[in-house]
Amino acid sequence: MTTTGVQFETVPHWIDGAPADSAAAEQAEIRDPATGHAVRTVGLGGADLVDQAVASARSAAQAWASTPTPARATILLAFRSLLLEHSEELASIITAEQGKTLADARGEVARSIEAVEVAASAVQQLKGEYAEQVANGVDTYSFRQPLGVCAGITPFNFPVMVPVSMFVAAIACGNSFVLKPSEKVPSASVRMAELLAEAGLPGGVFNVVHGGIAAVNALIDHPDVAAVSFVGSTPVAREIYRRSAEAGKKVQALGGANNHLVVMPDADLDAAADALVSAAFGAAGQRCMAVPVAVVVGDVADQVVAKTAQRAEAFTTGPGDAEGSDMGPLISQAALERVHRALDTAGGQGGTVVVDGRAIDSRGAGYFVGPSLVDHVQPDSDLYQDEIFGPVLSVVRVDDLDEALRVVNASPYGNGASIFTSSGAASRHFAHHVQAGSVGINVPIPVPISWFGFGGWGDSRLGDDGLNYDAYRFYTRSKVVTQRWTEPSKGVTPNFVAAGNQ
Ligand code: NAD
Repeated sequence: MTTTGVQFETVPHWIDGAPADSAAAEQAEIRDPATGHAVRTVGLGGADLVDQAVASARSAAQAWASTPTPARATILLAFRSLLLEHSEELASIITAEQGKTLADARGEVARSIEAVEVAASAVQQLKGEYAEQVANGVDTYSFRQPLGVCAGITPFNFPVMVPVSMFVAAIACGNSFVLKPSEKVPSASVRMAELLAEAGLPGGVFNVVHGGIAAVNALIDHPDVAAVSFVGSTPVAREIYRRSAEAGKKVQALGGANNHLVVMPDADLDAAADALVSAAFGAAGQRCMAVPVAVVVGDVADQVVAKTAQRAEAFTTGPGDAEGSDMGPLISQAALERVHRALDTAGGQGGTVVVDGRAIDSRGAGYFVGPSLVDHVQPDSDLYQDEIFGPVLSVVRVDDLDEALRVVNASPYGNGASIFTSSGAASRHFAHHVQAGSVGINVPIPVPISWFGFGGWGDSRLGDDGLNYDAYRFYTRSKVVTQRWTEPSKGVTPNFVAAGNQ
């Protein structure tokens, strides 16, 4: 396709192993965040394309559910090997469309490989429980079965890791899957579909359909879709949750975040400052587990601000694939404008801009903004209240740990929270009382290894069951069988009525 004299490649839809672009109702441009230039197009599917994708998934669902569980896991382990082999290629795709540094993108692929390993082994959880002789000749056992066709809707910031954390678990559990990735970063999903096919996954088990709101709504409303997984912003998560629940679907909707890192006066302040810059500015702040708020306790605040400012000023902002870049661009012009707006208003609402990322203004040549540090931020200011999702660190000063906890727990979000301290008692108090799904102690970004479940509290997650280790519960339902087999010579004892003699 040709637009304004530029030759674009087009990202294919992947349905049952075959691209089906012709069915896309409209095309959208994908821009390289490091230049702002349109580099390729993606077709935005509507109800017709979603129908094709769901039909493809449905046609494969029964045979895949009947495929022995270890055979399913074996295919996923072959996929794991291919992810490893193609790590560099996938990292490049991530950087090209999302903008993060190659080092960050490699880390994303590594965490995705870990998620595949966990999904392949978590299938042993489907085995259930067995209780023998609950009444005369009666045993009761349970096991878990797949749901059928599951759908995933994913955000722009982790083009590989978030989709993987959904579809490998769903597929391992015997479901087929339709993925609707973010239209801003569509290519990695298609490449993973190719790798899954190469790993031996039967056609139709995994399908990618590109699109925006129309595709999402068509997926949720489709009668053959049994479950919906969503990761993205909270307003959209609410809508997905409402619509899916009304349609009677099983739904998990992970939303936005505003994570806090508490620095206690007894903390190693250099370690805390290192943690703050990596957690606030890494991936340009576009991580759901980024730390946009430092809550500094007591009289060390000036020191923490000075140490953090020094490190922020040493940060190198540049294209994700350039040698020496610590931080890449934001995803879009709209994201860049949001960060500028937040900084423009911060001063008038009590904040002091200590490091100003607006100094790196590359408007018109990529979506770059440098790291920013704002001190004396008030919890009722816009900067604090809004999810900026950019490289801006707010400092809130408090007098003691309980005040810090009150600040953290007043946030409607509860994705993650960390504390830096040398006190075991303070850590334990924090871990016990903080309202968040993932907690860090002297750890800036407490995303747990995939052996544990992942998901926030409050507005950061609607619905039950998180991702990673918890996902097998979401992607299956339990069945409990009560059976009676009496020994032929004895028959049923006269006073036996039913299971449990009820
Ligand atoms: P987004 O909510 O704008 O989009 C997410 C997905 O929903 C995309 O696929 C998009 O096409 C679709 N979508 C957008 N608007 C929609 C609408 N009105 N109706 C139906 N579908 C719609 O999120 P984003 O900007 O792509 O990602 C950033 C957000 O994701 C941030 O808020 C971040 O905190 C959050 N996030 C959360 C987690 C988590 O684990 N909780 C992980 C990653 C990202």
